[in-house]
Amino acid sequence: MQKIDLLYKGKAKSAYTTEQADLLVMEYRNDTSAFDGKKLEQLARKGEVNNRFNAFIMEYLSNNGVPTHHVALLSANQSLVKRLQMLPVECVVRNRAAGSICRRLGLEEGKVLEPAVFEFFYKDDSLGDPMINDSHVITFGWATDAQMQEMKALSLRVNELLSQLFDQAGLYLVDYKLEFGLHQDQMVLGDEFSPDGCRLWDKQTLEKMDKDRFRQGLGQVIEYYEEVARRLGVPLN
Ligand code: ADP
Ligand code: UDP
Repeated sequence: MQKIDLLYKGKAKSAYTTEQADLLVMEYRNDTSAFDGKKLEQLARKGEVNNRFNAFIMEYLSNNGVPTHHVALLSANQSLVKRLQMLPVECVVRNRAAGSICRRLGLEEGKVLEPAVFEFFYKDDSLGDPMINDSHVITFGWATDAQMQEMKALSLRVNELLSQLFDQAGLYLVDYKLEFGLHQDQMVLGDEFSPDGCRLWDKQTLEKMDKDRFRQGLGQVIEYYEEVARRLGVPLN
């Protein structure tokens, strides 16, 4: 499938139209950003690792009944996806406290959250992706009540599936962010699932193996992503 026009260039990926109106080529770049784009770097191999990692996770989720936009891996850093009408909210699921919930609620990093916490954020970089609640989603028309319930249910189903998958690889799935969109009225998981959008800690050492290595300047960012991929059995070439 050939790329035609650049439709959207985000902070980490570029989306291209194709000859089929409802299919996009998603190109994963090496650009790495944090703190709403204030920290920016190029990390060698990141595009490839995240593309292959995401394809593996999306296929696993699809095979287990979660509708996803993933169609096929096209090349090292490109995948074919269904074009979705994205909903402007980020769905975050937390199994342990880390990141913004620690700052917001004064929690110690690592505190187990049982049952898992679900949060919506409004996807708007200029506002710093603020946390929002169901009432905001309805009033501002970002999704219907039924669509919200569907996003929550799918996010928690993903939690069951992936917590177990990562557990078997010796990792805690601490938290993660999902984005959903509509494809002919069906709620579908879009965007990506990779160590860029989740937190993964080694179960033995609690070592961080995700984008916090970049945010916190811990080094060897992509080497750790590759180690996670290796443990899961993600083919990296
Ligand atoms: P950001 O927009 O946060 O900078 P990316 O660089 O990852 O992030 O850009 C990917 C963009 O493509 C995001 O805005 C995301 O919402 C959007 N997107 C992801 N999957 C799809 C899809 N299947 N159809 C249309 N848009 C998508
Ligand atoms: N996350 C993301 N994109 C965002 C915001 C958050 O992928 O724009 C992910 C982040 O990597 C983490 C989870 O969502 O796995 C929760 O992030 P948090 O609210 O703690 O924000 P942070 O402190 O990471 O900015």
